[in-house]
Amino acid sequence: VPFRLPERDPCPYCENFVGRYAWHGPPATVFEDDEVFVFLAPAPMGGMPGHLLVTTRRHAPTIFDLRPDEIGKLFGAVADGARALRTRFDPDGIVIQQNNGAGGFQTVPHIHVHVIPKTAEAPIPPATEVPVVPNDERVALAEQLRAVWPV
Ligand SMILES: [Zn+2]
Repeated sequence: VPFRLPERDPCPYCENFVGRYAWHGPPATVFEDDEVFVFLAPAPMGGMPGHLLVTTRRHAPTIFDLRPDEIGKLFGAVADGARALRTRFDPDGIVIQQNNGAGGFQTVPHIHVHVIPKTAEAPIPPATEVPVVPNDERVALAEQLRAVWPV
């Protein structure tokens, strides 16, 4: 099977960046600058709140499409996110996952890194479908994480 991207047109992350949102509302932003964007996953997978998605503002589909400077910025934000989650939640563990290609579990064709705080018991992926957290709860959680963001 050849390497192929998941089919999502238009790209939901690029849609967010221009103010068009999916049914679950605008992203709950935890950190953003000119190059990277960090927000809460609508449905957290780790058996606890705080699952972050770290992405680039530029539409880069996979790890193969990043410039060296973007690699540094993206993974700097991943580390900052992990620190913020540890400060706020003291999870049993933090899983960092980045999927490339439909065969590699990628579902959005715009690079993103999952930073997933988890309980020791929670299976990844979850054993059952995880419900979407209401937007107002996600916004409140994002504020708490911004308050402890390490930069
Ligand atoms: Zn995109």
